[in-house]
Amino acid sequence: MKFLVINSGSSSIKYQVIEMATESVLATGLVERIGEAVGRLKNTFYPGTERERESVLEQAIPDHDQGMRLVIALLTDPEQGIIGTTSEITAIGHRVVHGGEDFRESALITPAILDAIKRNIPLAPLHNPANLDGIRVAMEIFPTVPQVAVFDTAFHQTMPPHAFMYALPYRLYEQDRVRRYGFHGTSHRFVAGECARLLGKPLAECNLITVHLGNGCSMTAIAGGVSVDTSLGLTPLEGLVMGTRSGDVDPALHLFLQQNKGMDLESIDALLNKESGLKGLCGMNDMRDIHKAVAAGDQRAALALNVQTYRNRKYLGAYMAVLGRVDAIVFTAGIGENDAIVRAESLKGLEAFGIRLDPEKNGQRAREARCISRSDSTVQIFVIPTNEELAIAREAATVVSR
Ligand code: AMP
Repeated sequence: MKFLVINSGSSSIKYQVIEMATESVLATGLVERIGEAVGRLKNTFYPGTERERESVLEQAIPDHDQGMRLVIALLTDPEQGIIGTTSEITAIGHRVVHGGEDFRESALITPAILDAIKRNIPLAPLHNPANLDGIRVAMEIFPTVPQVAVFDTAFHQTMPPHAFMYALPYRLYEQDRVRRYGFHGTSHRFVAGECARLLGKPLAECNLITVHLGNGCSMTAIAGGVSVDTSLGLTPLEGLVMGTRSGDVDPALHLFLQQNKGMDLESIDALLNKESGLKGLCGMNDMRDIHKAVAAGDQRAALALNVQTYRNRKYLGAYMAVLGRVDAIVFTAGIGENDAIVRAESLKGLEAFGIRLDPEKNGQRAREARCISRSDSTVQIFVIPTNEELAIAREAATVVSR
C-alpha cells in the first residue's frame, strides 16, 4: 500500500510517497517556482537511508499540472523510480488549510466535498484555491484513486463556543462565520496521539498542552483527547510570536497605523504577517541565527527571544487554567524539537504549577520522541517530532478503510 501525500501551495507542490505497511518514506520532494521563468523540482528517493538518492531538475514549470506530471515521470522512471505505474498508488491525501465549520474530520473527496472546500475560500483566500489546484490535478492524473482531504482546522472543531467566539456583534458569526478556527491541527493531533502512547493511556483520557513552535507557532489545550482551545484564530495570525507574524496585538493598532503612518489595510496586513514576529523585533526569523546574535551581545536578538518565550509562558499559564489537570506539555516543530533554550525559557517560573524541567535531558539532542521532565514533575514534558505528511497519510488510510 503506497500512499501519496500532496501539499499544494500557490506556486509549489510538496509531496511524499509513503509505504504504509512500514510507514517508511519512499520519495519526498518539492516542486517550486511554478509559473516563473525557471521552476525547480527537487526529489529524494529513500530519504535518510543508505539508498538515499537526490535529484534536482530546473526548467519552466508553467502550472500545477505540469509540475505534477514531472513528479509522476520521476516516480515511475524505469531505472530509479519507486512505482511502475500510477495505479500502484492506493490513495492520495491532500492537505487543505481551511475546512471552516464544514469539516470536523478528514473527508473522501467527492463533488460535494469540493464545493464545501470552495465555499470556505473567503476564510483562506490564498491557501484553499492553491489546495484545490493540487486536488484537481491529482484527480485528472489519478482518476480511479481515492483522494482524501485533511484539514488544518478540523481538529479544533471541538472547541466550545466560549473559546471560539470573538466578542463581536453576533451577526458577524451568523452571516460571515467570523470566529476562531485554529490551524496546525494535523500536527497537534499527531503529537497528541504519540504523547498518549508514551503516557501509556488512551488519548481520550489525556489532558495535554501541545506547543507547535516552527516558523508558524501555535499552542493547543487538549481535554480528554480533543482540542478545547488553540492560539491561532480566524486566520493564522493570532496568539504566539512567530517567525514573521506578530501574534496577538491590540486590534486598534490598525487605526493607529492608518492615522499616524498613512498605511492602508493591505500594507498593515503585510506588516503583521511578513515583517513582524521575531523578524520584526530583531531582523532575523531563524532561531539559530538569533541564538548566535544573542551570544555575540545583540540586545535586540535577546529581546526577540524574551518576547517570544514570555508569550509562550503566558499561554501555557492560560491553558493550565483552562484544563485544570494537565498530564503533559509537548514541544514540537523546528524550534520546539531542537531548541533547548526556548523550551527552558518558555517553562521558566512554572515550577509552582508542578512543571519541572530536567536541564540535562532538555539539553540532549535526539531525533526521537523523549521525556525531558524531572521524575518529580507532576506535569510531564515531552519533545515529540511532528510528521504532518505521515499524519495526513494515516488520516487518508482511516478514511479509505471506512
Ligand atoms: P518548521 O516551520 O517547523 O520547519 O520550523 C522552522 C524553524 O525552526 C526555523 O525557522 C528555525 O527558527 C527553527 N529551527 C530549525 N532548526 C533549529 C535548531 N536546530 N535550533 C533552533 N531552531 C531551529
